[in-house]
Order: sequence, then C-alpha cells, then structure tokens
Amino acid sequence: MRHGWEGVVLRAMRGRDFVLTVGESEDVTDRYRRVRVTDDGGLLAACGTHPTMWVRLWFDDGGSPHQRAYTLVDPDPAAGTFDLEFALHDGVAARWAQSVRPGATIDATVQGTGFDPVRPAPRRMHVVGDPASLPAVNSLLDASPGTPARLWLEHGADSDRTLPLRLRAGDEVTWVARHGAAVPGGALVAAVTQAWTCPAADVDVAADWFWLAAEAASTRALARTLRKELGVAKDRCSALGYWRAG
Ligand SMILES: Cc1cc2nc3c(=O)[nH]c(=O)nc-3n(C[C@H](O)[C@H](O)[C@H](O)COP(=O)(O)OP(=O)(O)OC[C@H]3O[C@@H](n4cnc5c(N)ncnc54)[C@H](O)[C@@H]3O)c2cc1C
Repeated sequence: MRHGWEGVVLRAMRGRDFVLTVGESEDVTDRYRRVRVTDDGGLLAACGTHPTMWVRLWFDDGGSPHQRAYTLVDPDPAAGTFDLEFALHDGVAARWAQSVRPGATIDATVQGTGFDPVRPAPRRMHVVGDPASLPAVNSLLDASPGTPARLWLEHGADSDRTLPLRLRAGDEVTWVARHGAAVPGGALVAAVTQAWTCPAADVDVAADWFWLAAEAASTRALARTLRKELGVAKDRCSALGYWRAG
C-alpha cells in the first residue's frame, strides 16, 4: 500500500517499514479483539523491544492510507511474533481487526516509540488509561515488578472491566465509567484529580512516576493538573493521548 504524505514524512524521520502477516484472532470480550501477527521482515530483531512499544499500522480506508498506532503485546523476538489488541469502536482500524483473516498482511512503520525508565525506581506508579492503552499498561506492570501501581482505568462497556489486567500483589485499580458524565472523559478526570489533590492523597511528587494514556483531552487535562497544581517535574510524567473523541 502507498502511504501518502505521512509515509514520506515518516521516512524522512527515519521510520522503518515492515510487513506483518496475520495469524489467528480471538475475541477477548465483545468489545476487545486480539490478533496474532508474525514479523516476516524481522521488525523485532531489527528494532528491539521495550515496554509500551508501539507501531504505526497502515489500514486501507477505501483506497486511502489510514495510519493508527497499536501496541506490541508479548513480543517474542526469537519467534518473530507478537499480538495486537484492539479496543473495538466504529473506526477503520477496529473494523479491520474484526474482519481480518489468517494470511492477510499489513504494513507497519516503526517511528516515534521509546521508553525512558525512571532511575532510581519510583516509589509508586500512578497509571491512567483505558482499553486502548491496556496493552501498554500491562507491559508497564510486567516491566516493573518492584514498583506498586495505583491505576485508574476508564471503561466504555461493562465487559471492559473483565479485560486481562496484569495486576501484581499490592496494586490498586479503580474503574471509572466513560458514559454518563456531562463532558466526555469528565468522570475520569474528576476521579483522578480528586485522588491526587485531596488532603489524604498518597502522592509523593519527588518520588512517584505518572503515566497517562487515555482520550486526548482527558490526558491533557490531567497532565496539566500534575504540572501546574502538583508541581510534578517533566521527567516524572509521561502523558500521551491515545485517541480523540469524535
Ligand atoms: C502510542 C499509541 C498506542 C496505541 N495502542 C493501542 C492498542 O494497543 N490498542 C488499541 O485498541 N488502541 C491503541 N491506540 C489507540 C488507537 O490508535 C486509536 O483508538 C485509533 O484512533 C483507532 O483508529 P480507528 O481507525 O479504529 O478509529 P478512528 O478513525 O481514529 O476514529 C473513529 C471513531 O472512533 C472513535 N474512537 C477512536 N478510538 C477510540 C477508542 N479507543 N475508544 C472509543 N472510541 C474511539 C473516534 O472518536 C471516532 O469517533 C494507541 C494509540 C497510541 C497513540
């Protein structure tokens, strides 16, 4: 597939192109689907892996390229395989995940992904996410066994609460309903802000680490609270909007 002007820009930024072959798929819930892929072009061997690692996948949208980011789940460089997990909604990428069959291929570009672990290990991780960032959240939990996590996850459907979350002993999670708030994302922002700013807040801005990946406006609002109200330093906070409310 031709990747249009985005592909030209990514190549100029040293993006590396690969082709993935689709294997088996499974419904994890009615709103979440896992697709196994093989990296015939050696993506894992060429690029290595890190927690929260993501690739830009190129979907066909009626003949036009449609690029979206997806996280690598359980990458196995020796076997050249990993899974992709799709939160389902009405979108080109989500529809592809529901209809793709074994043997299909999809183009992938690696550019922009990275991970800087905080040293020394933080006292606690504060994690804000939703089904789209669940694969990245799980990779963070797997990668930091000694660091307890306080998680807030937004769910769009009841079944999201049954998604496979890789909690360790001592982790605490709060699920917040997406729908029903006056403003999209409002309930998540209110719940997390309250937990961070209330008199009993268990937050140490000098020793904790904050990782935020939910809808873009909610993520921005919470990152602003961290920086402006709590005075969290830039290097103790990673905030990236994973999708935009339409
Ligand atoms: C670094 C990074 C890693 C990501 N990893 C994953 C991943 O592993 N798994 C995953 O599922 N997503 C992941 N995402 C999010 C994914 O890229 C977006 O959800 C993307 O917009 C989906 O594309 P689409 O073509 O299906 O829908 P789009 O064409 O982008 O949007 C169509 C409609 O669906 C709505 N929409 C889009 N995404 C969502 C959503 N997640 N929930 C509810 N409504 C939505 C939009 O508001 C719009 O109305 C990641 C994003 C980033 C930035």
